[in-house]
Amino acid sequence: MILVTGGAGYIGSHYVLYESARGSEVVILDNLVYGHREAASGVPLIEGDIGDRALLDRIFRDYPIDAVVHFAAYAYVGESVTDPSKYYQNNVAATLNLLDAMRDHGVLRFIFSSSCATYGNPQYVPLDEKHPQNPINPYGESKFICEKMLAAYDHAYGMRFASLRYFNAAGADPEGRIGESHDPETHLIPLVLQTAQGRREAISIFGTDYDTPDGTCIRDYIHILDLAQAHALALDRLRDGQPSGFYNLGTEHGYSVREVIRLCEEVTGLPIRAVEGPRRPGDPPRLVASAAKAKAELGWQPRYPDLRETIRTAWNWEQNRRF
Ligand code: UDP
Repeated sequence: MILVTGGAGYIGSHYVLYESARGSEVVILDNLVYGHREAASGVPLIEGDIGDRALLDRIFRDYPIDAVVHFAAYAYVGESVTDPSKYYQNNVAATLNLLDAMRDHGVLRFIFSSSCATYGNPQYVPLDEKHPQNPINPYGESKFICEKMLAAYDHAYGMRFASLRYFNAAGADPEGRIGESHDPETHLIPLVLQTAQGRREAISIFGTDYDTPDGTCIRDYIHILDLAQAHALALDRLRDGQPSGFYNLGTEHGYSVREVIRLCEEVTGLPIRAVEGPRRPGDPPRLVASAAKAKAELGWQPRYPDLRETIRTAWNWEQNRRF
């Protein structure tokens, strides 16, 4: 049985859907600060915090858990700069609490939600896993520190892990059961689609003077179910007794902010008003993954290489959202 922390959140809930569909037994632990109860339907949900050691002890005693897939974290880069305590407490200290509980209960398989934010400003693109890691904000640092802890716990306690460094998660369950629902919403694709719907006046483009072909930032938008698939494969690999590893997850294709807006117009068939604004602090000009390692070692085969298709699933969700 798999314990999924943060399984009621955006990425976690899609992973739970994927993992349950292939017949796995899953239990979710989520404090519902950002997660949604509706996103966890059909799977046992324990409402609580990964920082609560007594609760973790009960869970590891009561359920036959052999692996933890850990999504529970705060993920607002800007907030991590203004309120770093929240990020070090939750993303680092509470993760440490979880790892210690696992070690003490002999649960030694861990899949970790890491981030391309651990790399900081790219020295080259596409970024492979050997790219130096110099995070430029507390969010990226919190993920980087966890990666260091994992390497040390592997060495000292035999805890095997896969650390998955996501690029930009996007899209939704194609059947529309769940999707992206952040409050506040800060991510480009949902904001652009909500602008198409008339729920927002305009999309603000954060910076038009970057050293990129059209002056706007380039990102690698990876479909949420392709992320889910990679977690499942990474877990299979650990259960097969293979060693720990770090893996980038992205499509290996970059799209500029203007290109994303154009594709959203194409998918929705609606005009989208964009206004040019200043740069958002901490945004590197270009982040594109090399995902060769995940493909080779995990056997990962992304099903949504086309950003149009990813946007289509996000649009379906925006039009029929349940939460
Ligand atoms: N972005 C933008 N306007 C917005 C939100 C985002 O221009 O209202 C840009 C942002 O600067 C970045 C890209 O869109 O280059 C993706 O941002 P998002 O917040 O979705 O993901 P991040 O790259 O921060 O993880």
